[in-house]
Amino acid sequence: MQPSAAERRPQSFDRVLSSMCTEPHPAARRAAERFLASNPGDPATYETIAELEREAVGALAEVTGLADAVGGDGSDVTAHGYLTSGGTESNIQAVRSARERVDAADPAVVAPDSAHFSFHKAASVLDVELRTVPTDADGRADVDAVTAALDADAALIVAVAGSTEYGRVDPIPALADLAVDAGVPLHVDAAWGGFHLPFSGHDWGFAVDGVETVTIDPHKVGRAAVPAGGLLARDPAALDALTVDTPYLETASQASLTGTRSGAGVASAVAATDALWPDGYRAEYERASDLAAWFADELRGRGLGVVDPELPLVAFDLPRATFEAVRERGWRLSRTGAGEARVVVMPHVSRESLSAFLADLDDLR
Ligand SMILES: *Cc1c(COP(=O)(O)O)cnc(C)c1O
Repeated sequence: MQPSAAERRPQSFDRVLSSMCTEPHPAARRAAERFLASNPGDPATYETIAELEREAVGALAEVTGLADAVGGDGSDVTAHGYLTSGGTESNIQAVRSARERVDAADPAVVAPDSAHFSFHKAASVLDVELRTVPTDADGRADVDAVTAALDADAALIVAVAGSTEYGRVDPIPALADLAVDAGVPLHVDAAWGGFHLPFSGHDWGFAVDGVETVTIDPHKVGRAAVPAGGLLARDPAALDALTVDTPYLETASQASLTGTRSGAGVASAVAATDALWPDGYRAEYERASDLAAWFADELRGRGLGVVDPELPLVAFDLPRATFEAVRERGWRLSRTGAGEARVVVMPHVSRESLSAFLADLDDLR
């Protein structure tokens, strides 16, 4: 007989290689437990978690460069964002905000075909057209193709900063120039990449003029508990557009798509960013990048084709039979749409686990 749900244990992360979830930071785990019954969707009742949400948005504003962009004038940073249930809700809300603010008969979102499938959900839920344009040979948005897809119906341009399949970062300054010229807002989806990018040398967040909204997930590389996502906006009007039914309510938490929300996610995002921003995240970026480079070399040394990693995510060719065989051995590995295996070097992925994986590969080939 199965033990009761309360006695079951979650599976270990030892062999989880393709997930963007990871072990929460210990402080994040403790904070999540303490606040799991608090509802940030009701800030007038749950004032402590509402206060923590302001802190969480403040932390994400620093990570994404928004705090610098809007200036340290002490204005309520909550007006610029809120904690979502994850990248999917953030992306849906970014599209929704753009749709509310555009004056177009048939609003359209223009996105590279590397954009996350949550934009397909957004398009479906919000009844907007999703125009996906081909990426270049390296898997990044092709600025000319995006330009060609713009017309009077364009409500939003999407850029990806750390694509889910290859970890690619789009040419965000060029897309931002284009967006400003065309008068269309630019949304940057950094759901996964957002906690690496401050250290990678890319131009990606609110430091780039023309970037209007950003998605960043504390529950991925940020090491908060699930669910903790983030949506941030340069202009509070982008958040106000989400609260059209209650214009007299000031707090951005009321712009959320969901009603009752996870206090665990919010509190753990504060605890994780308190513990890790910036030095801990920098150290993790460096560790993961070195490990990804080492792993890519090991794979090349075995004659496998590897997509050069830009952020710590390694996609590589693996014959189908080998892929199935390593999964049989318990490795949780997934594939890109084109069929490569992909290893996301998350905080729980270590040199030891990747060495054990390579040993299994050698054994099977
Ligand atoms: C993971 C991811 C998402 C979706 O986020 P969820 O938290 O799973 O809803 C969106 N965009 C990108 C680039 C992602 O990597």
